[in-house]
Amino acid sequence: MLYVSTRGGGEKLLSSEAIIKGLSDDGGLYVPEHFPQITLDVINLLAAKPYSQRAAYILGVYLGDFTPEELESQTDAAYNSGGFAVPEVAPLRKVSDDTFFLELWHGPTSAFKDMALQILPRLLTSSLRKTNESKEVCILVATSGDTGKAALEGFRDVPGTRVMVFYPRDGVSDVQKLQMTSQQGSNVNVVAVEGNFDDAQNGVKEIFTDEFLKEWAREKGFFLSSANSINWGRLVPQIAYYVSAYCDLLNSKEIQLGDKIDFCVPTGNFGNILAAYYALRMGLPINRLILASNQNDVLSDFINTGVYDRNRQFYTTVSPSMDILISSNLERLLFELSGKNGEIVSGLMSELSKNGRYELSSDMRDALANIFSAGRCSEEETLECIAKAFKEQDYLIDTHTAVAYNVLQKYRDGNNQQQPCVVVSTASPYKFSESVLIALGQETIGNGADLIDSLFNFSKSPVPMPLSGIRNAVPRFEKSVAVADMQAAVREFLQS
Ligand SMILES: *Cc1c(COP(=O)(O)O)cnc(C)c1O
Repeated sequence: MLYVSTRGGGEKLLSSEAIIKGLSDDGGLYVPEHFPQITLDVINLLAAKPYSQRAAYILGVYLGDFTPEELESQTDAAYNSGGFAVPEVAPLRKVSDDTFFLELWHGPTSAFKDMALQILPRLLTSSLRKTNESKEVCILVATSGDTGKAALEGFRDVPGTRVMVFYPRDGVSDVQKLQMTSQQGSNVNVVAVEGNFDDAQNGVKEIFTDEFLKEWAREKGFFLSSANSINWGRLVPQIAYYVSAYCDLLNSKEIQLGDKIDFCVPTGNFGNILAAYYALRMGLPINRLILASNQNDVLSDFINTGVYDRNRQFYTTVSPSMDILISSNLERLLFELSGKNGEIVSGLMSELSKNGRYELSSDMRDALANIFSAGRCSEEETLECIAKAFKEQDYLIDTHTAVAYNVLQKYRDGNNQQQPCVVVSTASPYKFSESVLIALGQETIGNGADLIDSLFNFSKSPVPMPLSGIRNAVPRFEKSVAVADMQAAVREFLQS
């Protein structure tokens, strides 16, 4: 299995090389040359296995230069060694006859980014060994809140690596910020950026394309790499939980082998739902993928109209990890919709950088509409949805998951055909305690730790361990920089 760039640059890489490089020299993202197929028989076999072995299988069909033993030991270390609080790793919770929540937040940072970032450092360090790379890798991350902490936890004290996280100063919750600024480990650094997530992400992208800075880093013995969801090593572990959810529905006899199901996914950078699309292309029986946007509805508009237009107001919402107007991973979907045509993708991407907008051809639009549906959830609807799920289903959900649940309800109102649907639950409600308390009509007094206590006292839903410890967290990193000074911050970190 080889990897090519979405912009058609012509190079073909092994998976280890694609994971190390992150972004292609032509500015494109790495994608597999073709999709390996997963048969119903294999799905049936995987259903009898624990999560770590399901994941090892999925990784194995994509990462051709890793041995099965290597992947089994890595998924075992990532998912079974105590980082995840439940043995199922990604449990399914049934809330009604045909609605299930896939809880992806039982890892060390209580959000779904752990699913990939607990394993990425292992994939990356063995990729380095495979390619005989001796330089130290410096991971740069732009985060809308959850990726940053998950990367810090994943890479902390991993030999041969450093990790540096940039977060938008006013764009993350209290708890998210404290989780990051209190990070332990000798190889980590955290910096606030005076801007929003897109500013931070663009700043990191510029660093990656700055040959002068990269050369400087090489001389210092480092090479720069990305743990953002554009890295192939982030995406491939995410495919596993879609397959795993299907296996669990089979095991609980909710469906029969071959039955099609829907997935509804709260979306920001288009990474999570892209993994669902890859699962579909591999042959997992999926009927529709329902994309859910918050008030920043650039993606739901795109699905519904075929026009991507980022020339619109940016909103800071109660689901901050979805406050994104430039969804990097969408480029990978465009590549598939165009029939793997790098020229078309390059054209669309240059329109995007020139005009902030592009429009799909009617062929590509049809291909999109065949698989995806989309909806948008307002701030008010997000809070109403949390209250309703708690009242009617006795189920406490976070703001991002609520966006998806609300969009699913709207989708079902407009469609007679009813499939079982898995709503992808991306964060613990305690990570966004303030908004959840407001949704439930409760007072919000005190700091992040007080709010977690209040929410527990009201809901009696268990608090994940990593969040119950936040009261004692002490900030280590207080630095804040302008976007233009991000490069200087990287230099300073690498010289320390
Ligand atoms: C990152 C994140 C999302 C968005 O995921 P994408 O892969 O960027 O679409 C949704 N919810 C939570 C809680 C997140 O952390």
